[in-house]
Amino acid sequence: MHPLDALNEIAALLERERSSRYKSKAFRAAADAIADLSDEQLRDAAGLRRRKGIGDSTFAVIQEALRGEVPGYLADLRERAGVERPSALRSRLRGDLHSHSDWSDGLTSIDLMVEAARTLGHEYLALTDHSPRLRVANGLSAERLRAQLEIVAGLSGDGFTLLSGIEVDILEEGGLDQERALLDELDIVVASAHSKLRMERATMTRRLVRAVSSGRVDVLGHVTGRLVEGARGTRPPSSLDARAVFAACASHGVAVEINSRPERQDPPDELIAIALDEGCLFSIDSDAHAPGQLSLIDYGAERAERAGVPAERIVTTWPLDRLREWTARGR
Ligand SMILES: [Zn+2]
Ligand SMILES: [Zn+2]
Repeated sequence: MHPLDALNEIAALLERERSSRYKSKAFRAAADAIADLSDEQLRDAAGLRRRKGIGDSTFAVIQEALRGEVPGYLADLRERAGVERPSALRSRLRGDLHSHSDWSDGLTSIDLMVEAARTLGHEYLALTDHSPRLRVANGLSAERLRAQLEIVAGLSGDGFTLLSGIEVDILEEGGLDQERALLDELDIVVASAHSKLRMERATMTRRLVRAVSSGRVDVLGHVTGRLVEGARGTRPPSSLDARAVFAACASHGVAVEINSRPERQDPPDELIAIALDEGCLFSIDSDAHAPGQLSLIDYGAERAERAGVPAERIVTTWPLDRLREWTARGR
């Protein structure tokens, strides 16, 4: 295999299993370092070893790939990833409405996210970086978001559309953390709570109901905020009146996100059942913070299928035209 493919596949697999971002960054940096090299330069081992961006592991991977082998590092990762049988529902997903780039707390450029989405066969991806109040995640000011919109506008083509968007923070009182006029310009608004997740049940319910009733939200992100595994530890779900929140989602046409990240698995099964019962739409999203994480929708699709969510009610199975009609409602 070509060394460049080996390095990129390793980075993507490391991202998918959500190991340290420094590890996958090293492989992405090495891929960058050799991207423009001729075959001759690649085969000059001494010269290659001296290049910036090439370390011991990445050098070894390149050498094995040049010898025509599948590098050991890659073989191990592939084995750990397992060969999962994709669910029938997964094959009906056309895109993803929740992803991040290095403009906020994502790992890579928008370009690499787009390339990965195209490779997965997505027809569309919404770029939804964080809003200003989320400083730990380098949330975008109105000014930075406007600058990002100009870049996003130039990245569609050849059957793929990059949708503009935001993951807007739901403030304590249920307001949205971005200028209303700017939200109106975006293709997709995902709204999520990231702070004060332990507030009292009635207050949290009011907060979420107010947010989804604003007329500006398309998707309610990771509804309960729970964490069930992983490096960040676990966190119980917020306490809320799910029936009231989902009834508000249904009456405002807001899709309930099925967040595919294995550490979130949000909402829990019993809440998916309530959302189904209330007549909600759903969106199966990766919440990818790196290109290799876009494929996490496999897990979301599996959960939705097990929960008996009809494909018709999942907006990410819809063709782009229909998706645009839905998101343009009330704007
Ligand atoms: Zn979030
Ligand atoms: Zn997110």
